[in-house]
Amino acid sequence: MAQSPSGAVDVPEPLHVVSGFGAADVAGAARWTASDTEPVLCCLCHVPGSPVMAVPPFGVVRCPICELVFVSPRLSAVALQRMYDDPAYFENTVYGDPVGRSPAMILQRTWTAGRLAGLLERRPPPGRLLEIGTGYGYFLATARDAGYRVDGVELSRAAAAHARDRLGLNIFQGQLDEAPVGDPPDVICFWDTLEHVPDPLEFLRAVRSRLADDGVVALSVPSFASPPARLLGARWWTLKPEQHIWLFTPTTLRLLAARAGLVITSVATSPLRRSNVGRTDSLVAFGRALPLVDR
Ligand SMILES: [Zn+2]
Repeated sequence: MAQSPSGAVDVPEPLHVVSGFGAADVAGAARWTASDTEPVLCCLCHVPGSPVMAVPPFGVVRCPICELVFVSPRLSAVALQRMYDDPAYFENTVYGDPVGRSPAMILQRTWTAGRLAGLLERRPPPGRLLEIGTGYGYFLATARDAGYRVDGVELSRAAAAHARDRLGLNIFQGQLDEAPVGDPPDVICFWDTLEHVPDPLEFLRAVRSRLADDGVVALSVPSFASPPARLLGARWWTLKPEQHIWLFTPTTLRLLAARAGLVITSVATSPLRRSNVGRTDSLVAFGRALPLVDR
């Protein structure tokens, strides 16, 4: 594995295809040092994880209780915002190809069609759809064209401005908990976003609290149970420990969702499924709100 002079690992990314919030590998990942990082606990069990592998200045650890895998130490909140505000984060990605002839953009279209088909089947329009982590707004614009009333939330100022100005989408730039609460969405989706958020349990609870009681959730995340993740270790091209700070398996995702009041009803991992085509290391999940009951 390539090591930069600072000791940081250059994670190879042969496909250069990552959808949603993620983008191509972040230029200058090697710029991070231990002073940019902080240790964290498992978001479910509030205990430190046991080491799985070291990718300096980061570590990948597994919770000894629930087996959720996460990055600790990881980038501090300040360093994370700095990264997402850097225009280089979205450069040279599918989002920079509005003409849409690149293989990456064709894949993006296929994923969008497959994911939208999953939503149309479970909760057809009209209805309100909220996407969290809209990136440049490609999926959200397609959902709007399919008949949903759409809103988006995006942390990156550059991406949010693009989606607003070029596609005419209603995007709140910031964190989900700061976004205005309107009518409960019938659908909340977040593609390749959950692995980026500081606290995924808090994030999913916020999703549940906003979602209509008969609403549908849909998401994708890198899968730590996938063959590339299991076989390649620190050389797994989607590891990206500066950005992907929670690493889910279908089991830990279901557990986390349940703790947040959501039930995962289907998980697709096959690279032959349209919603996930060509991706050997990610999963696409659909779910519903669990009824809120007094205990
Ligand atoms: Zn745990």
